[in-house]
Amino acid sequence: MSLDRPPSPIGQRRGPAVTIAQAPCPERSDIAIVGGGLIGLSIAWRLARAGRSVTVLERETIGAGASLAATGMLAPAAEHEPGSDPLLPLALDSLRRWPAFRDALEAESGRSIDYRADGTLVLAIGRDEVERLRFRYDLQRRSGLDAAWLPGSEVRRLEPGLRPSVTAGIQCPLDHQVDPCRVMAALAEACRRAGVTLIEHAPVSALDWSGGRVAGLRVGEHAIAAGTVILATGAWSGEGGLLPETLSLPVRPLKGQSLALRTTARTGTLARMVWTEQVHMAPKSDGQLIVGATVEDCGFRPGITAGGLYALLEGARRVLPGIEEMEVASVWSGYRPTSDDDAPIIDTLAPGLVAATGHHRNGYLLAPATADAVAELVTAGALPEVARPFTRARFAQVQPRRAMA
Ligand SMILES: Cc1cc2nc3c(=O)[nH]c(=O)nc-3n(C[C@H](O)[C@H](O)[C@H](O)COP(=O)(O)OP(=O)(O)OC[C@H]3O[C@@H](n4cnc5c(N)ncnc54)[C@H](O)[C@@H]3O)c2cc1C
Repeated sequence: MSLDRPPSPIGQRRGPAVTIAQAPCPERSDIAIVGGGLIGLSIAWRLARAGRSVTVLERETIGAGASLAATGMLAPAAEHEPGSDPLLPLALDSLRRWPAFRDALEAESGRSIDYRADGTLVLAIGRDEVERLRFRYDLQRRSGLDAAWLPGSEVRRLEPGLRPSVTAGIQCPLDHQVDPCRVMAALAEACRRAGVTLIEHAPVSALDWSGGRVAGLRVGEHAIAAGTVILATGAWSGEGGLLPETLSLPVRPLKGQSLALRTTARTGTLARMVWTEQVHMAPKSDGQLIVGATVEDCGFRPGITAGGLYALLEGARRVLPGIEEMEVASVWSGYRPTSDDDAPIIDTLAPGLVAATGHHRNGYLLAPATADAVAELVTAGALPEVARPFTRARFAQVQPRRAMA
């Protein structure tokens, strides 16, 4: 496997090199995980460290779903909106787990993940947006989030590259960020060192049921017996195929397009993440500035569109004129795995079958708490308190979903 990316590609994300020899399919594994994205690998690493034999089956290449497409914001404050209160305890719990997750991941992989604790600035541009920003600020304060209201002059003192039309801002010191490409490379390496068998180009075509429980899975003609199968299939979790209709999951793809710009001493950059009504921007330590992300409810429609790129560049230029001089490093798209209430589904679906999916735009934020919750579910048979609201049962009237195109 290689997470190397050619320079300046369209439709692909840059990434550091990790090369892992392709392993043959084993005949049995304590745990078999379907999906080699962030969630699958985080769980795999966690369970391998707990002494289980773990195999990850990925249909394409590691991270090829949403995980290499993300910006890497760990931003419970900036992204807090009306309706997201139920998710907040899990989000904050996971954020608290991140420093230990980072330390172990960096130590066990020998790789940096570019963890930055610079916070976010949420901006208002012009007079019109100030009122909406004030509403967001009041909501953050009511929810107990650490946030400070700043006048435009103070915002521009913190970020001198911003336009004078920035009229106010909220500083959210709680928000952190990572570089998704580095996290995925580190996770792949940490998994390998922990003894996880990672298999790419291995589409799981069926689950094996025996006596009312899942006893393994199939990759083409090859059968793998497993004590527990974990579905970490991201935006594809709602497709027909692996699950009987009675267990179908209300998850759909929400497409996002993003781009990376190369910054130099001449162009300048941002010191921290910036969030506006149109775009977010996240500076990475390698000098790239990520501009994201469109939100398109269009199913699995691949490709980069002129309209998507225009919206991103226009939204970025509206606050940061320096982007005009920045070289475009790469553009890409991915599918957020989005459940009917935008929150994850972490649950035992049937004996021997666990799901960890639906992380929407918060997969990075929620990865440490998800990995720990699934590990507890598998090893102790119950979810920790903080994860209990996120079982499938909350969708009281789950309707069987038809396979998506
Ligand atoms: C543009 C964009 C920006 C984002 N920004 C952020 C952010 O700033 N912060 C944040 O926290 N989150 C962000 N997210 C969300 C985050 O990327 C996701 O929540 C997270 O990556 C989901 O991880 P996953 O492992 O569940 O899914 P995926 O990474 O999609 O992995 C699922 C994998 O399962 C595989 N698969 C599916 N079916 C099968 C099968 N039958 N057999 C074998 N393999 C199969 C797929 O190929 C895929 O690789 C962003 C997402 C997008 C698209």
